[in-house]
Amino acid sequence: MQETSASIQITALPAFSDNYLWLIHAGKHALLVDPGDAAVVEQALKAGGYQLDGILLTHHHADHTGGALALQQHWRCPVYAPDNDHPAYRELNAFRVQDGEQIAFKTFPDLSCEVLALPGHTLDHIAFYINQQHLFSGDIIFGAGCGRLFEGSPPQMYASLQRIAALPPATLIYPAHEYTAHNIAFALTVEPGNTALQQRARDTALLRQDNKPTLPTTLALEKATNPFLRCLPLSREKEFHDWEPVDVFTELRARRNVF
Ligand SMILES: [Zn+2]
Repeated sequence: MQETSASIQITALPAFSDNYLWLIHAGKHALLVDPGDAAVVEQALKAGGYQLDGILLTHHHADHTGGALALQQHWRCPVYAPDNDHPAYRELNAFRVQDGEQIAFKTFPDLSCEVLALPGHTLDHIAFYINQQHLFSGDIIFGAGCGRLFEGSPPQMYASLQRIAALPPATLIYPAHEYTAHNIAFALTVEPGNTALQQRARDTALLRQDNKPTLPTTLALEKATNPFLRCLPLSREKEFHDWEPVDVFTELRARRNVF
């Protein structure tokens, strides 16, 4: 569990083989980002004595939305989802939110939540930027990696990652999957001499030995070690010399798909 400046706390709830459902709580109130599994969330709410006051959905994939209906029916709480008529959101009668929108929660008076539209993994993918410090990023960015392009194009995903890269370096990023170790193995094939990446490989191995999350991560660490945020410096190096950064991204994403 992590203490934060605005008195909210954020807890990773492991689910399925490698998902994290992110629980945001203050006092007895809680919000949940991407409840793929209702039972995992109910157990955590019960253990902490929290009531669920809202559900935030980053995109329509079942491992992010599968528990939302049961939770909503139990807690009668609002659901916020991308502005898309997908059946996964329709059955929830979700509030559809757009880029730049602010979401307010009565029971979290000090919490600000801005919606960022970040297409690529899916076309409707959004992220939630809380207290201008915590980015709940679904499947856009992972520790040392990025999401697959199920619906969007490489330039779309590249632009979304560049938007994340423009946030303050101390931003804490909360991806929805524990893929860091495998992503680092791939990143080392791209930048074997990156000492920050080598250090991260050692740190990650120690955490995973004890089955601990490698997340959240920080934007500063991602900029130093995540090849998908390093396309500009890579475009100045020998292998990709004079490539456009977006073409470096496209090439790296294609390589990662078969790694
Ligand atoms: Zn997904």
